[in-house]
Amino acid sequence: MNIQNYINGNFHNPIKDNWLDNYNPSNGEIYSQIPNSSKEDVENAYIAAKAAFPGWSQTTLDERSRIMLKVSELIEANLDKLAEAESKDNGKPVWLAKAVDIPRASSNFRFFSNAITQFASESHESVGQQAINYTLRQPIGVVGCISPWNLPLYLFTWKIAPAIAAGNCVVAKPSEVTPMTAYLLGEICNEAGLPKGVLNIVHGLGTSTGQAIVEHSDIKAISFTGGTATGAHIARTAAPMFKKLSLELGGKNPNIIFADCDYEEMLKTTVRSSFANQGQICLCGSRIFVEESIYDQFKTDFVQRVKNMKVGHPSDEKTKVGALVSKQHLEKVLSYIDIAKEEGGKVLYGGKQLIIDGYENGYYMKPTIIEVKTDECRVNQEEIFGPVVTIMPFSNEDEVLQMANKVKYGLSATLWTNDLKRTMRMTNQLQAGIVWVNTWLMRDLRTPFGGVKDSGVGREGGFEALRFFTETKNVCIKY
Ligand code: NAD
Repeated sequence: MNIQNYINGNFHNPIKDNWLDNYNPSNGEIYSQIPNSSKEDVENAYIAAKAAFPGWSQTTLDERSRIMLKVSELIEANLDKLAEAESKDNGKPVWLAKAVDIPRASSNFRFFSNAITQFASESHESVGQQAINYTLRQPIGVVGCISPWNLPLYLFTWKIAPAIAAGNCVVAKPSEVTPMTAYLLGEICNEAGLPKGVLNIVHGLGTSTGQAIVEHSDIKAISFTGGTATGAHIARTAAPMFKKLSLELGGKNPNIIFADCDYEEMLKTTVRSSFANQGQICLCGSRIFVEESIYDQFKTDFVQRVKNMKVGHPSDEKTKVGALVSKQHLEKVLSYIDIAKEEGGKVLYGGKQLIIDGYENGYYMKPTIIEVKTDECRVNQEEIFGPVVTIMPFSNEDEVLQMANKVKYGLSATLWTNDLKRTMRMTNQLQAGIVWVNTWLMRDLRTPFGGVKDSGVGREGGFEALRFFTETKNVCIKY
């Protein structure tokens, strides 16, 4: 089948008739073609968005909210279809897409349909000067949203929903590796009655289609989620054009375990924070630091739990670890196992590709635990973004804090302890945009989301996202 671009409410082939193969990671087969859109396709998407902007930006909040709620409901109504499409494109277990990805895509629309009705502007009375200032938050115009392959519809809608809620029109590009659910979203938007041109979806490579969006002189804001190197490249292009930029980038997150934690809860959650979605979540705790008094016990128990995780076809309900997203990605992840061995790391479990009967060409590997001697080795410093974690012991709070912070990234951190004072000391000093204490990936969509250092610039989520997608204008009236 052919996936098409969604422009002005209609589905189109790419103008230059360039196509890319789309693979099913569970069996390595090509199952669809996607447009590799050119500048001209992006221009058409822009023209449609620009034409829709005057109407959409003046649509009442009630009406915007009503349409977005309808999109949310239709995503929910299509749960099975979307979850199966997501799994086929990405390799993740179908049950996971059903439990997390698709419900969250629906929540993104529902959340921002409500949030926009509560998004207030400020006023400041200049007392004694007979003047009042009020602050308008106006939509920017046409904005660009670019998303990665790990949580395809989840992250695509995380950007699109606040952008359109705030009154903007959008040119969006999903990852070329996982385009299918974004394609299906176009149909849903039409059925929900989203006016033509409010959302336009162009497919293609980052270096061609994505680059054309970033370079477009009239697309005034870019919300990007993806790798740190891509983010830096986008910033180099967009900054001299004075675009608003939100960059949600890579991570190499510490999972810090103190002996006084609730051990069973920690163990269960650590298995999840290590290997959920094949370890392909920017928030996964891929560096595990364990207080030395419980290190040996943890090592034995963790390896045992991970051994019991079934690696298998994504449609099997018992599968805990599905297929990695692509052949190139599998090869990249496996290359880090060699690096680990060269650096003196010890593979405690996994470390190998797995061939599954009936799906011999799929991209499977065992969840992998590497015991490292030093936190400074490459496997502990570089983002692998697969089912690979490192573990090592620590002796005290200062030491682990230093190791936790000694990476270029600063997206999230997880802390396991029941000591309140330690919690306060550590959470204050951890260099991360998000710190979880005695939990992981617990999300409240009102909270700010983003990273420090090389993990990104800006915050999304809640009103932060609505602030990003609006321009602030202060009006001062003397009376
Ligand atoms: P990527 O950077 O390769 O691609 C992300 C998106 O950018 C894709 O749609 C791609 O086509 C596009 N792109 C690539 N080059 C571009 C260019 N020159 N101009 C415009 N667009 C371009 O990332 P990926 O491999 O798809 O995703 C994995 C990365 O995403 C990891 O580093 C992961 O940590 C990160 N990530 C971060 C978050 C977060 O919220 N911080 C969430 C998920 C994933």
